[in-house]
Amino acid sequence: MSVMHPKYEVVIGLEVHAQLLTQSKLFCGDSTSFGSEPNSHVSPITLGHPGTLPKMNGKAIEHAIRMGLVCHCDIQRFNYFARKNYFYPDLPKGYQVSQHTTPICSGGFIKLIVDGKEKVVRLTRIHLEEDAGKSIHDMDDHFTCLDYNRAGTPLIEIVTDPDIRSADEAFAFLTEIRKLVRWIGVCDGNMEEGSLRCDANISIRLHGDKKLGTRVEVKNLNSVRNVKKAIEVEVNRLIGLVEKGETIRQETRSFNADNDSTFSIRTKEDADDYRYFPEPDLTPFQFTEKFIAEIKQSLPILPEILKDKFITAFGLTVYDASVLCEDKYLANYFQECLAGGIAPKALANWLLGPVKSILNESAQEWTTVKVDAGTWFRLQQLADDGKLSFSVAAHKLLPLLLDGKEKNPAELAAKNNLLQDAGADDIQHWVAEVLEAMPDKVQEYRKGKKGLIGLFMGEVKKRSKGKADPKQTNDILLEQLNKTQK
Ligand code: ADP
Ligand code: MG
Repeated sequence: MSVMHPKYEVVIGLEVHAQLLTQSKLFCGDSTSFGSEPNSHVSPITLGHPGTLPKMNGKAIEHAIRMGLVCHCDIQRFNYFARKNYFYPDLPKGYQVSQHTTPICSGGFIKLIVDGKEKVVRLTRIHLEEDAGKSIHDMDDHFTCLDYNRAGTPLIEIVTDPDIRSADEAFAFLTEIRKLVRWIGVCDGNMEEGSLRCDANISIRLHGDKKLGTRVEVKNLNSVRNVKKAIEVEVNRLIGLVEKGETIRQETRSFNADNDSTFSIRTKEDADDYRYFPEPDLTPFQFTEKFIAEIKQSLPILPEILKDKFITAFGLTVYDASVLCEDKYLANYFQECLAGGIAPKALANWLLGPVKSILNESAQEWTTVKVDAGTWFRLQQLADDGKLSFSVAAHKLLPLLLDGKEKNPAELAAKNNLLQDAGADDIQHWVAEVLEAMPDKVQEYRKGKKGLIGLFMGEVKKRSKGKADPKQTNDILLEQLNKTQK
């Protein structure tokens, strides 16, 4: 639940950087692959040697437009790049090529569900820019090391209006962005590797105030959890300051995830003047309507639309539909498996219950689940026929089926002695044994404590070692309990 502060309203705007999934950099052919030997993807263009010329990566532009279309933005038809000048060791050219007055996308919004309520976060802009290199401070005792592999990697920066009102909303926003970029394949969304990074601008004001308060910006948050945590910490710090009568200074802070605190890295007084001007080595560019229409055409069905289909056409709950649509692979897999004839609700129960927990326990991805449509259908049939209990299937049989090699659940269950295949005679016998062993409880049951049926069921289950079909056991139990009643 969102934390409410009785006196203050929290105001947050996020800037999210997403590394675009291209093979080469924004302005040259150097590889963008992560984790290579430091400074191995650094041509003279990346390093900004005199006389080199940048060349635009078309794929990066398409990705930026895809994201803009998905976020309902206006796509800027006429674009140019600008130089944002500043000095920093990880910036080999001394300027970053970015977009200034012509962000490729403007406006737009993202819809979220937070605490069960719909929330719309408006976007200010999405622009294209190149990433900087990386300063490494913990490799050498006396020096900062520099790795320029990342320099020149294409990024989009997604900037929101100050519409976010809590750490939970920020959490939901970032989770949604990560899902969307993965869904349409523009970014791998991997925050640990830095493919998705977030800066949070945070201010507070008295409820009802129209004017925005002075903001602080917390930089480079590298997990969804840290974004939430940093905002919580910072909001409390700001409220503490104001309550003490202090004024808030506009500043940039950094988050320390080791002890969940923020510390100042610079104040507004040292704000840079970036001296933007149009990049003279790249021509301005204009999109045709046809180009944009083709990109629109190539977009996959979006999660929102699929979720509605799962609810209306398949009768799933909003919750089940939402979870299935959190991951594109899962959503597609779910639909493929329905082709085998299993009921949607039954399949959702298997996937979101036992399969999901098996994956969580072993930290595996959905892509490792290889059970085919026919196998799901046959598994469900076994359960429907009372031959297999859900719990035995979930804990014993499913783990053996997940890799998809075994396609006959009945055979596999038989081989592992997992079927509920006891005959009526056996069950009669176990039931009689159980009732005989618990005369007091039988008396209580007959006096009206009908809930005890669960206890008897459990005892029969134990004696049968799970081989008795619960429905049949229940019938026989009732029959015997009622028969001998005087
Ligand atoms: P800059 O480019 O200097 O970082 P912008 O004005 O472009 O600043 O704003 C960056 C982000 O900060 C946006 O997401 C915006 O919504 C947010 N923002 C601006 N003012 C405030 C404020 N007073 N409180 C919270 N967020 C703010
Ligand atoms: Mg900023």
